[in-house]
Amino acid sequence: MEPAVLVVGAGPVGLTMALELTRFGIPVRIIDKAAARTDKSKALVLWSRTLELMDRGGHSQAFVDAGFKVTAANIYAGARQVAHVRLDELQTPHPYALMLPQSDTERLLEAQLNARGVKIERQVELTRFVADTDQITATLQSADGREETLTVPWLIGCDGAHSAVRHGLGMEFVGNTMLSDWILADVHLHGLTDNANEVNTFWHADGALALFPISPGRYRVIADVGDALTGQRRPDPTLEEVQAVLDQRGPGGLVVSSPIWLASFRINERKVADYRAGRVFLAGDAAHIHSPAGGQGMNTGMQDAFNLSWKLALVHHGLVSDEPLLESYNIERSAVGQQVLIDAGRLTALATLRSSAWQQLRNHVASFAFGMSAVRQTMATKLTELSIGYPHSPLTIVGKHGHAKPAAGERVPISSSSTLTTQGATPRFVLYAARDPQSADVIGRHSKVLEPALRPPFDEDHIWLARPDGYVATVVAKGEWDQVDRYLSLICGQ
Ligand SMILES: Cc1cc2nc3c(=O)[nH]c(=O)nc-3n(C[C@H](O)[C@H](O)[C@H](O)COP(=O)(O)OP(=O)(O)OC[C@H]3O[C@@H](n4cnc5c(N)ncnc54)[C@H](O)[C@@H]3O)c2cc1C
Repeated sequence: MEPAVLVVGAGPVGLTMALELTRFGIPVRIIDKAAARTDKSKALVLWSRTLELMDRGGHSQAFVDAGFKVTAANIYAGARQVAHVRLDELQTPHPYALMLPQSDTERLLEAQLNARGVKIERQVELTRFVADTDQITATLQSADGREETLTVPWLIGCDGAHSAVRHGLGMEFVGNTMLSDWILADVHLHGLTDNANEVNTFWHADGALALFPISPGRYRVIADVGDALTGQRRPDPTLEEVQAVLDQRGPGGLVVSSPIWLASFRINERKVADYRAGRVFLAGDAAHIHSPAGGQGMNTGMQDAFNLSWKLALVHHGLVSDEPLLESYNIERSAVGQQVLIDAGRLTALATLRSSAWQQLRNHVASFAFGMSAVRQTMATKLTELSIGYPHSPLTIVGKHGHAKPAAGERVPISSSSTLTTQGATPRFVLYAARDPQSADVIGRHSKVLEPALRPPFDEDHIWLARPDGYVATVVAKGEWDQVDRYLSLICGQ
C-alpha cells in the first residue's frame, strides 16, 4: 500500500508515532539514518500518563514487565529532608515512575511495530524535501548513496534535536545553551540505605546531585559540576570524579563501581514557535529540548505523537474537516512544550543556586511548601504528566458546566479496573452519560467517530464527551444532547 505518512526518525517519538498511526490503519514508512538503535540508557523514566496512553493501544504491559517501579522522590538539603513526594497514591493504573533505559524502550516499541508488520528502514536519510499544498516530495538517501524520491501526503519530523525536517522548514529553534557543565554516570552503587529504591536529589552548596534507581543496585548519577568556562565540551567524567562528587554531596558511605556509561553534557533550552507547517509536522526533540530535570523530554515527545496520531487518522480517513483538528496539534502541544521548558528550567535553577543566602532561603521555603499535601500532590501530578490538559484548546468547549469534574480540557480519570483500549481502526470519541433514549440518536448520527456504547458518568447530572486521547472535549447538562451533537458536527465539518 502507498504510504500516507513518512515518519523521519526512529527514536522513541518516531516509533510511538508510527505505532499509533499503524494502529489507526494508516500506511506509514519510518526511516532512520542510523545503522542501529541507541545502546544508551538516555531517558530513564516512563511516566504514568505515557503508560496510560500506551494502554489505549494495549501496549504498556511489556514495558511494565521490563521496568523497575519507583514510587517516591525525595529532596535533601544537607542532612535535612525537604521533600518526600509519593506517587503511589495517585489515581492511575500506573502510580509510579517506571524506570526503563531508553534503549529498552526503543527495543520494545520496535518489537511492537514489527508485530504490526512495519519495519524501520535503517541507514536511510531524509536529505531534502519540497512541501506543496497537496503533497510532500522527499528525497531519501541510502547508505550506498542510492537516492529515492518519495511522494506522500504527510511528513512528520521525529528526527531529534538537529532535525533535518526543522531545518528544511527554515524554522528557528529559539532558546539557548546553559553555561554549566553536567556529568552523568550509569553505575553500580553500594551503601545507599535510606530510600534506596526512590529518586533522591541532594541540594548541596556546590551544586546538585541526583540518584535515580535503574534496577536493584544500579543507578543513574547526575550532577552539575560548575560553570562552563570555555566553548569546549567537557571531557567525560572518570569514575574517581563521580566518587568524589558522591562523597562531597551525597549522604555518605556510597561506593561507586562498574560504570556502564559515563558522559558529560550541557543543557539546551529550545523550542520552535510552530509544530506544524501545512502538511509537515514536528514532534519530540525536533520541536523542543530542555533540562533533564524532571525527566520530561522523551515523555513529552511521545505524548506529541499520541496527540497528533488520532487527529491525522481522522483526517486521513476523511471523517473530519482537517484544519481545526490539525492546527489544534500545534496549539495544544506547543503550550505543553512551553510549560515543560519553564518547569524544567525552574527546577534546574533552584537546584543549582550558587549564593548561600539564596540556598538557605530556597531550603527554608521548599521545606515549608513540601510540608503541605497540596504542594506534594501538585508536584506528583506534574512529574507524572497526569496534570496535562488542554483547557485553552480550540477543541475544548467549556460551556456553562465548568464546575463539573473532570472539567472540559482535563484528563478523564482512569480507574485501575477500567483501562481503555481503543477498538478498531479509527479513533473514536467516547460518551460518559446515563442511559437516555436520545443518546441512541446522537450515537447513530456520529457512529463513525463515536464509540457505540455509553460509559458510566462521573455524576448523574452531566454528560461528558471525551476525545479519543482521553481528554474531556466538553461537559453538558444531562439531556443536552443537542450540544453533543453540535460539537461533533463542528469537528466533522458538517
Ligand atoms: C544524557 C541524556 C539523558 C536524558 N535523560 C532523559 C530523561 O531522564 N527523561 C526524558 O524524558 N528524557 C531524557 N533525555 C532526552 C531524551 O533522550 C530525548 O528527549 C529523546 O531521545 C527524544 O526522542 P526523539 O525520538 O524525539 O529523538 P531522538 O531520540 O534523538 O531520535 C531521532 C532519530 O532521528 C534520526 N534522524 C535524525 N536525522 C535524520 C534524517 N535526516 N533522516 C533519517 N533519520 C534521521 C536519528 O538517527 C535518531 O535515531 C535524555 C537525553 C540525554 C542525551
